[in-house]
Amino acid sequence: MALSAAPSESFELIVVGGGHAGCEAALAAARLGIDTALFSLNIDRIAWQPCNPAVGGPAKSQLVHEVDALGGVIGRLADATALQKRVLNASRGPAVWALRAQTDKRAYARQMLQLLQHTPHLHLREAMVTGLEVADDRVIGVSTYFGSVYAAGAVVLTTGTFLGGTIWVGNRSMPAGRAGEARAEGLTEALRALGFRTDRLKTGTPARVDRRSVRLDQLEEQPSDAADRFFSFDPAAWVSGEQMACHITRTTAATHQLIRDNLHLTPIYGGFIDSKGPRYCPSIEDKIVRFEGKDSHQIFLEPEGRDTPELYIQGFSTGLPERLQLELLRTLPGLEQCVMLRPAYAVDYDILPATQLLPSLMTKRVEGLFSAGQLNGTTGYEEAAAQGLVAGLNAARLLRGQSPVHFPREGSYIGTLIDDLVTKDLKEPYRVLTSRSEYRLVLRGDNADRRLTPLGHALGLVDGRRWQIFQAKQAAIEAEQRRLDTVRLKASDPAAAAIEAETGAPIRGSITLADLLRRSGVHATDLVRHGLCDPQLPADVRDSAEIDVKYSGYLARQHQEIERVRKQDHRPIPDGIDYAAIATLSKEARERLAVVRPLNLGQASRTPGVSPADANALLLWLELNRRREAAQRAPVP
Ligand code: FAD
Repeated sequence: MALSAAPSESFELIVVGGGHAGCEAALAAARLGIDTALFSLNIDRIAWQPCNPAVGGPAKSQLVHEVDALGGVIGRLADATALQKRVLNASRGPAVWALRAQTDKRAYARQMLQLLQHTPHLHLREAMVTGLEVADDRVIGVSTYFGSVYAAGAVVLTTGTFLGGTIWVGNRSMPAGRAGEARAEGLTEALRALGFRTDRLKTGTPARVDRRSVRLDQLEEQPSDAADRFFSFDPAAWVSGEQMACHITRTTAATHQLIRDNLHLTPIYGGFIDSKGPRYCPSIEDKIVRFEGKDSHQIFLEPEGRDTPELYIQGFSTGLPERLQLELLRTLPGLEQCVMLRPAYAVDYDILPATQLLPSLMTKRVEGLFSAGQLNGTTGYEEAAAQGLVAGLNAARLLRGQSPVHFPREGSYIGTLIDDLVTKDLKEPYRVLTSRSEYRLVLRGDNADRRLTPLGHALGLVDGRRWQIFQAKQAAIEAEQRRLDTVRLKASDPAAAAIEAETGAPIRGSITLADLLRRSGVHATDLVRHGLCDPQLPADVRDSAEIDVKYSGYLARQHQEIERVRKQDHRPIPDGIDYAAIATLSKEARERLAVVRPLNLGQASRTPGVSPADANALLLWLELNRRREAAQRAPVP
């Protein structure tokens, strides 16, 4: 196995890209003792947040908690650099509660760089990786733009929006990975030469405005309301810096008119690009076209840092030409005199459709070559971080001769995300949503450590200190649950009268605190208020105990369903199966399954084009095949 030139350096693992996927991949592998190099185009732009520097939100916060539970860093850094925090959906059920933090963009990038620089076994290199060194269908290194070759036993690609990136402002375009940064050359061609299929997607970011030019005092203020809530389960990460407020304004009739008059000048409506953008982050023109009857849309003004005047104009990304963008911004109340610091722009870029990957995130075609993050068609820092951790972990395990770790969809949002990516063709950038999980009551943020930290510890990703903290927390939750199950509140107790008055529901004789909590409108915070719960009990312990007690019936049913799924969906499909020969499958299912090559029945049934009838036919075929093979193995009498 020979490299194309003598290597400048050799590493066990090379991670290409220093974004949110690359950093988690490199840190996970290095934590497992793998000699890892992280190559990035610009070391000063490590873990840069090119869009809104906000972490978390619905489903994304669950991902952040899960990455943290497995020893990853996105949660810790978001906690350390948060300048405004909110709990979203607080009035709804715990399955959809979501922590969201507006972070200080520069502090976030700076802290990540420091972390990387101080991690043993981790080396940073600035270079553009343009080629892959492959021998006998196994990756053996990479080559760079200026002609150097680096040897490695495994490579993780996390190139974000940089492959073939083109940025657009109106109908003007420029080759770039994102504003102010060169696009990456060569890798798309290298991947295609190896037989991979690539596709193109698009995303966009709104303008940034100078806060000193905005009349914030005239706008609705949205203060931080959850500074005491954290993504990380590690109390060492619980720091709260000075908090800042966001502000809210709205589009006006003038905004809508200006957009309608100039739609033909935007890349999408003008037909200059046809790659698909994220439906869940639509441009302002998309919103105005799609929701024609709505005469105003909410727009959030969000600070990008404590030491910068830049405001991110959330909900206002646009493909309008630069000359019209300032005019458009000035149609918003409070922004009549605003100064635009950076224009909104869109970027379209090459992706590596993830149906070409195994659930370990290793490519099916080239052993040792992994791919994670925006390159796999996702959008978002959280989605990237989650995939990065999985790719880094599995690359490290491959190098150590260990089997890959697959995250099942019923066990985590990480698993849901990866299962969706490897089985479905993307028509637009993929973002995680609570509605994508069938098991969202079980897959909550508060219990991510319970679901994943034991695995993280067994894999070597979670150190002894974190493990002890975890065990102490679980013991505290169990003790609180026992207390709730056994302590009774008597009707004669003054607290009972107060609770009756508040809830309107009578307490007869006595009631356990657990049954009291199961009543609608009664929460653990009420128990604290009425002296029925220790106010010193940490909020995370109290919340977890409450959710387990309050939703015990629903949780038990969801756990039963998960057990059923585990039995049926995890039935493995043998490697090398010839789908074309299974006549009972529809033609479409045969073709799709031959491309996706699912590892188990669950993945097969979730592959687009595979109907429930096809899934049944496959189940039957697997069973008949198993019996046929068993009969062949049986000794002849
Ligand atoms: P990135 O963070 O893009 O990092 C890629 C890294 O790879 C960079 O460090 C780069 O230097 C390096 N790199 C690339 N090619 C090479 C190479 N050949 N050699 C060496 N290094 C290389 N997310 C949302 O959730 N919502 C949004 O609305 C949203 N809008 C966005 C708008 C824009 C304009 C952009 C650019 C991004 C937007 N994002 C949005 C996406 C978010 O920024 C990404 O999802 C996230 O950063 C992806 O992380 P990543 O690690 O995959 O890639």
